[in-house]
Amino acid sequence: LSLDSFNLQYCQIGLVVDEPELDRALSGTLAVSAHIAGDGPGTGAAPEPVQVALAPVLTDSGSVAGVVAIEARVDYLPVLGDFQRSLALITIVILIAMAVLAALVVRTAWSSARLEHRLSRAENLAAMGRLTATLAHEIKNPLAIIRGSAARLGKLEPEAQRMSEFVIEEVDRLTHTVGRYLTFARGEEVSGDAGDAGAALRSTLDLLEGELRARAVTLAVNDADLAAAEVSLDSESLKQVYLNLILNAVEAMPGGGTLTIERAERGGQVYFSIADTGAGMSREMLEKIRNPFFTTKAQGSGLGLFLTRRLVQSAGGTLEISSEPGRGTRCTVRFPKHR
Ligand code: ADP
Ligand code: MG
Repeated sequence: LSLDSFNLQYCQIGLVVDEPELDRALSGTLAVSAHIAGDGPGTGAAPEPVQVALAPVLTDSGSVAGVVAIEARVDYLPVLGDFQRSLALITIVILIAMAVLAALVVRTAWSSARLEHRLSRAENLAAMGRLTATLAHEIKNPLAIIRGSAARLGKLEPEAQRMSEFVIEEVDRLTHTVGRYLTFARGEEVSGDAGDAGAALRSTLDLLEGELRARAVTLAVNDADLAAAEVSLDSESLKQVYLNLILNAVEAMPGGGTLTIERAERGGQVYFSIADTGAGMSREMLEKIRNPFFTTKAQGSGLGLFLTRRLVQSAGGTLEISSEPGRGTRCTVRFPKHR
C-alpha cells in the first residue's frame, strides 16, 4: 500500500468514520466503528445502517503502513463472526477425527502383527502334527515286527523267554508313548486319568539318580515335597513332564551344579518348581522357547518344553519359566488338585 493510496482511502472513509477509530487503527490495533447511516443501495431507498472495520497494515519493522477498511451492512459482520466460530468448530472436529483414525490404524497394525504371530505358531503346530504323524507311523511298524519276533523267539528258546518278555514290555511302552505323541499332534486331550504328582516326581528323581551323580549335580529336595498330590494327569504323562524339565536343567549345567525342587500349595493348587544353577536364558530366548522346534542343542528336538506345556495345560495347569542369564532357570508347574 503506497502512502498515496492510503491517503485516498483516508479521504473516502474519512467522511463516515469517527476520528478515534481511525486513530486506533493507525496506532496498530483493530477497530470497529459504531453503526453509521449508509448511503443505501440506490436512490430513493431507505439508507441501511453500516459498520466499518479497520485493520492496520504493518510493515516488517512493525510500523503502520496503512489501514484497510471494510465497510459492510451491520448484519454482515456477525455473519463473519459466525463463520469464524464454525471454522474453529470444524477444525476441532477434523482434529478429533484424525486422532481417532490414527488410533484405529495403530490398533489394526498391532492386532494384525499379533495375528501373524499366532498364525506362524499355528503353522508350526501343523508342521509338527504332520511330522509326528509320519514319525509315529515309521516307528510303529518296525515296533510291531520287533514285538512279534521277540514273542516267537521266547517260544523257540526257553532260555530267552525272560529276555523276550523284557523286549515285549519295552516295545509296548514305546508304542504307548508314540501313540500319546500322535494324540497330541492331532490336538486331542490325553486320557484324563488322575495321577499322583508327588509320586511321579519321586520316581523320576529315582530314575535319574545315577545320571545326576555322574554329572556332578547336587539334588536339593525335601521328602515332604514328594508327598502325594492327586492331579488330573496320568502318572506316565507326569513323569514325562518332570523328565523333560529335569533333563533340560541337567543339560544347562554341563559343569555340574545344584538342582532344587520345591513345592507349594495354595488355593486348591499345587506348585512344583525345578530350579537349576546353569546357563540361564535371556528375555529373547524365553520368548523363543515357546515355539516348537526351537533348540540350542546339537541333538535337541525343541519339542520337550512344548509338549510339557501342552501336557500340563491338558490337566488345567500352567508352566511358568523364569530365568536369568548366567544364574539359572526356574520352571514351575501348577496343577489344580484333583477332587
Ligand atoms: P531341547 O531340550 O530338545 O532343546 P526343549 O524344548 O526341552 O528342547 O528346550 C528348548 C530350548 O530351551 C533348549 O534347547 C535350551 O536352549 C532352552 N532351555 C530349556 N530349559 C532350559 C534350562 N533349564 N536352562 C537353560 N536353557 C534351557
Ligand atoms: Mg529338552
